[in-house]
Amino acid sequence: MQRQDTLLVEREDKTMKEYDILDLYDLAVLLTYERYTREPRFRHAMLIDVARGPEELELFGDIPGSGWDNPAKRHKRVGYVFKVEDIEHDENELDTPETMLPLTIVPPRIEALSVQQLDTIFWQARAHDACYASIALLQFLFKLYEPDQPVRIRLENGHEAIALLHGRLTATYTLKDPKQMVMSVVCHGEPYERAPGIMALKSGTFITGEGDSMPHCVMGFLPIVELSPPGQKTVMLDLASMQFGCLRGRTSLFVLEDMDAFRTRMEGLAESVSGPDMGGPYIPRGEEYWLEDVARRVKRRYDRRETEHWCGHCGAPANRLACTGCKAAWYCDREHQVAAWSHHKRWCAGKKK
Ligand SMILES: [Zn+2]
Ligand SMILES: [Zn+2]
Repeated sequence: MQRQDTLLVEREDKTMKEYDILDLYDLAVLLTYERYTREPRFRHAMLIDVARGPEELELFGDIPGSGWDNPAKRHKRVGYVFKVEDIEHDENELDTPETMLPLTIVPPRIEALSVQQLDTIFWQARAHDACYASIALLQFLFKLYEPDQPVRIRLENGHEAIALLHGRLTATYTLKDPKQMVMSVVCHGEPYERAPGIMALKSGTFITGEGDSMPHCVMGFLPIVELSPPGQKTVMLDLASMQFGCLRGRTSLFVLEDMDAFRTRMEGLAESVSGPDMGGPYIPRGEEYWLEDVARRVKRRYDRRETEHWCGHCGAPANRLACTGCKAAWYCDREHQVAAWSHHKRWCAGKKK
């Protein structure tokens, strides 16, 4: 099938306008990178400890109200402790999985982690408690385009749908008794020994996940029937999926799939799931307005896509390693190329007949 790059849309005032079709997958890659490399809660934070199960949780036990000390819930928690060094930071330097490691002494529990595990922790911590901010970010981005701007949705199953931006909605699922939650602490200054053997943390951002019920909000896109596969359902975009870790062996840093598959994914994350409750626009909270800048940067990078390439996995600027099949997809390195392959193999011009 010939790829369609533009679409003639009849606007509300009955005039016709030809639009370049935006690629939602590419935008999601850029949004992920531009947002999480400057996430204010974790800005310049270095990973100093991890707890991946009950036996590793002692360090967290002293955080008031954290729920870490509740034995019934302990098995469901993974936790990360970050620390911001009290030094001058270069504001142009982005946070990445590489800059997340302590400069001098790397604690043994962190040293034992693989590069992939560290990568997951980087995105997982930042995506935690970030689904409503994802909606705010998408809205800020889409405000930069016209309401009837068309978007292409390249799905993992190789199907392609087209939707108009005004045919989008918010969808909230309620996860009852989540099977795993992330807790992160970002502390400023050294942890100190409050009692023999009990380390306590000074002031910091504490991001909790102790509730029994958790709302998870994503954005849904209604496919245009004539321009989408027969029976194509609403497509869900979840930019905060990494808070649950790499789901079912997935490597993608976000989820873009139809609502049935997405529902099944949600069901794997909790004892029960209700929803989705469909809603209209989300009103961003004051602390989410930094995302307006993120949206502008993403649009700028997307507009320069012909000359300034980015990694198809993580969204970092990338100009060294191109897919040999199509020479149109770029990557940081071989690892990120492999991580992106399950999606790219469906769309690589060099692979398709
Ligand atoms: Zn990359
Ligand atoms: Zn390719």
